[in-house]
Amino acid sequence: MKYRLMDLLACPICKCFPLELHVLRTRRIEAELKPVKCEVYCGYASKRLEELVGPTCSECWQVEIVDGLLFCGNCGRWYPIEGEIPRMLPDNLRDRNDDLRFLATWRSRIPEKILKEGKPFSLVTG
Ligand SMILES: [Zn+2]
Ligand SMILES: [Zn+2]
Repeated sequence: MKYRLMDLLACPICKCFPLELHVLRTRRIEAELKPVKCEVYCGYASKRLEELVGPTCSECWQVEIVDGLLFCGNCGRWYPIEGEIPRMLPDNLRDRNDDLRFLATWRSRIPEKILKEGKPFSLVTG
């Protein structure tokens, strides 16, 4: 997943924007890509554009987020990024076992509030 997507992604359930990004694993892209500037929110800098000083949007195109987690500060839901794909499914289409396995795999890198209180599944509520 490109950082650029953070400029476009909202929570599918409550429509909150921007989401909180937790990057777990990245890889460098070799290919020369034409940078597209963010318009509202830059996920690479974790800032809204009006708070940005100087250009940063050229660097973020060279990084692909392989594994990560998106968190919605409004409704408390989290969404896994796996194999470079953000999986933003409604609760009833999510696989509980897959989600719990994901949290367990990355537990040392994921904030406590998500591990314990994240929705729809957490390591406490199961
Ligand atoms: Zn940007
Ligand atoms: Zn939400």
